[in-house]
Amino acid sequence: MRKYILSICLFLLLSSHAVFAQQKDTVRFDLSLADAATHIVHVTMYCSTNGSDSMIFKMPQWTPGYYQIMNYANNVINFHAGDSKDSLAWRKANINTWIVQTKNTKNVILNYDVVADSVFVANSFMDTSHAYLTPAATFLYIDKKIQTPVVLSIEQYKYWHRIATGLDSVAPATFTVPDFDMLFDCPILAGNLEELPSFSVNGILHRFIGYKMNNFDRVSFINDLKKIVETSVNIMKDIPYKHYAFLGIGPGNGGIEHLTSSANSFTGEELNNERTRKGTLSFLAHEYFHNYNVKRIRPVELGPFDYDNGSKTNQLWISEGWTVYYEYLILKRAGIISDTDLYNNIRGNILAYEKHEGKDHQSLAQASAETWSDGPFGNDPNKTISYYDKGPVVALMLDFAIRHYTNNKQSLDDVMRKLYNEFYKEKNRGFTEEELKKVCEETAGNKLDELFDYVYTTRPLNYSKYFNYGGLDINTTDKSFSIQPTKNPGALQEAILKSWLGNK
Ligand SMILES: [Zn+2]
Repeated sequence: MRKYILSICLFLLLSSHAVFAQQKDTVRFDLSLADAATHIVHVTMYCSTNGSDSMIFKMPQWTPGYYQIMNYANNVINFHAGDSKDSLAWRKANINTWIVQTKNTKNVILNYDVVADSVFVANSFMDTSHAYLTPAATFLYIDKKIQTPVVLSIEQYKYWHRIATGLDSVAPATFTVPDFDMLFDCPILAGNLEELPSFSVNGILHRFIGYKMNNFDRVSFINDLKKIVETSVNIMKDIPYKHYAFLGIGPGNGGIEHLTSSANSFTGEELNNERTRKGTLSFLAHEYFHNYNVKRIRPVELGPFDYDNGSKTNQLWISEGWTVYYEYLILKRAGIISDTDLYNNIRGNILAYEKHEGKDHQSLAQASAETWSDGPFGNDPNKTISYYDKGPVVALMLDFAIRHYTNNKQSLDDVMRKLYNEFYKEKNRGFTEEELKKVCEETAGNKLDELFDYVYTTRPLNYSKYFNYGGLDINTTDKSFSIQPTKNPGALQEAILKSWLGNK
């Protein structure tokens, strides 16, 4: 986020069913967007009872990427449970839990409607122009059966012709999903969408599909987007997905990252002004880079997700703060922003962090854990901070420290690759706070206690010391925090600054 079946369904025969005929517990959803004018999405869910007397169905309370309880179940209306012949008794156990009596029946068919009337990247909206569906706000799951595979078919509104999503398509408007985590991770955009020219990086297809895009230079935009992906891949040295879709969801604020896609508020209008063009590309780089940092390189607490209560972690300063830091570096190394733009971006974060009392009350780790109650950017500048501001600044100081201690042989890029290879690829899990510190210190070949004090305490940041490692002067005396290259840098400072900026 940045400042956003068959098997069991023997009673229905669709072409896609054959694909899943061998998978006994597959759940099937039929989604109807036919009544777009009413904002009502009709959902039919088919699943097997496996002989149980009752079944518990739940709707997530939040969506990964937007760390706030959203109470999505409030938008579920007209709930009905039945089998192929009769209605089944059911009751609500709490706000997001339905218990259905399934004694003596093999299959359950749930019908319910979802009200999609909120224009926000973490909610769902549908009218006759388009639909943007947040899956966590749309699909019920069987309690404790998140790993169940899903087949999804979508009936569109009669005048629409395109569906865009990160899901694997097996037939027109039909998708297969290995489990509910993946289903909840793939937003759905439908309508008369426009697809911009696609591009490949290392043979992997990247698409940009948008709703209501204005006039802008599409060729130059796609060139920039390709550079952003190439620069990111050059940092991580691997592409973990088979295809990637940038979804432009129209006017609004914010975006949400996913494994094979990102949902981005976007009209293209922003690209017609030089300042907002850089801001938009930076935002897209942020959501894209999250495919590595948080979707795959992740705190151990962010998976399996607790869809009921939220997944609390002290480490969003890494998942979000470092992603802000990397969006700047990616744009600089891709040649989209200047050295001065990069310095000004960092300076903007420092100014935002330094100007409020909250810096003396809440640490980065606390801001991460308490986001569930404080809101994504902190709710009281006198008591809270934003990890979107302090996070990238501490990331820069960490990066320069690692470069300094290793004679510029290692950097935060190496930390990212180690986390990716060791925890995502080898161990297939997230990292603990201790493991993160250990990887940073091993990479630096040095203890980094002072820097981790900046994470766990409200200790004032020694900007000059760390910025100087990278050949940068920062004006802390007049609190302007203006940043510029050191006048007479030593050889190591010069080398660090040059490689950090990606200048030849
Ligand atoms: Zn983010």
